Amino acid sequence: MFFHQRCGGSQSRLRTQQHHTPQHHTPQHLTLRTVCNKSMVCGMNPLRSIALTLAGLAVLTVSACGGSSGGSSGGSGSSPAEDEEGQAELSVVTSTDVYADLISQIGGDAVEVQALVTSTATDPHSYEATPQDRLAVENADVIIANGAGYDSFITQLASAAEKEDAVHQVAEGSAEHDHDHSHDHEDGDSYQNEHLWYDLARMEQFVLEVAEHLGQLAPQHAELYAEGAEELAEQIGALDERSQQLQASGHSYLATEAVSGYLLEHAGFDNRTDPAFLSAVEHGDDVSPRLYRDALQRSEEVDLLSYNAQTETQQASRIRDAAQEASAVVVEFTETIPEDSAGYLEWMESNIDTLEAALQEAQ
Ligand SMILES: [Zn+2]
Repeated sequence: MFFHQRCGGSQSRLRTQQHHTPQHHTPQHLTLRTVCNKSMVCGMNPLRSIALTLAGLAVLTVSACGGSSGGSSGGSGSSPAEDEEGQAELSVVTSTDVYADLISQIGGDAVEVQALVTSTATDPHSYEATPQDRLAVENADVIIANGAGYDSFITQLASAAEKEDAVHQVAEGSAEHDHDHSHDHEDGDSYQNEHLWYDLARMEQFVLEVAEHLGQLAPQHAELYAEGAEELAEQIGALDERSQQLQASGHSYLATEAVSGYLLEHAGFDNRTDPAFLSAVEHGDDVSPRLYRDALQRSEEVDLLSYNAQTETQQASRIRDAAQEASAVVVEFTETIPEDSAGYLEWMESNIDTLEAALQEAQ
């Protein structure tokens, strides 16, 4: 990844089974295993990756490792660092690398971005902030949180630093869009999916909104932010369109965790997961024996199992085994950007590729 890397260990915890598979475009030869891994393996364009990495290095000025950089690391508050022309640069801290990548693509060199959670080996739902995270939030001009209870570790740090005003919550954006999410509230047990970055239409709106916000804080860069956001929104919009053309209607899915829900539902998949199950999982508990038995049963009836590889539990892996035995196609998703993906766009494109292959498998 090209963002701030935490000191010690995140590299060694990277998945080691990831290899580029040449079967990327031959879904008829996919085994279950390659479908499972594909979202984390394929789709890398090396040249683009290198270019993005170089672009990322240019904005990599804040580091929690060693503490010698970061401009305002002396704890002198949030006065922005100055760039070559003596103009203030915005320092942005985000809860996960998903939002850091989007901000970085909007702002390029005219913004400093740091994510607190940067590895798929870390479950953001149960993440505990470090002293370095606290320092980063204290020194940030803008703090980006997903909100909706997903990443309270960062909003709590902001509150402790009395920087609530600097927090921009994606969940509180004015993003109204066309999709009908009423199915999230069926069955009495309401469950509102908090994984907003899998909702491509919503991200299209978010990047435009946040660029405007950043432009108000750094008017000298407003035009650059707006241009970056428009280009990015267009690319996200194209992916959204592609996802809706997958023609998954008539196919059902079960999820071990809600993560990819918006993407699957916009593609037309029919969600057979009990909202009460998703709600219990999100609260970090093992689900009740009744819900667990029910999920095991449903796993044998669906076409696809959406498996969250970043929030693994024993129950989830047993549901996965049951689904595999019953010949459902198992597709892995993650909360944050996989280490072998160049960024949000490539990651989401790869997710759509995976779903497309899974649909062919499920025919
Ligand atoms: Zn999650």
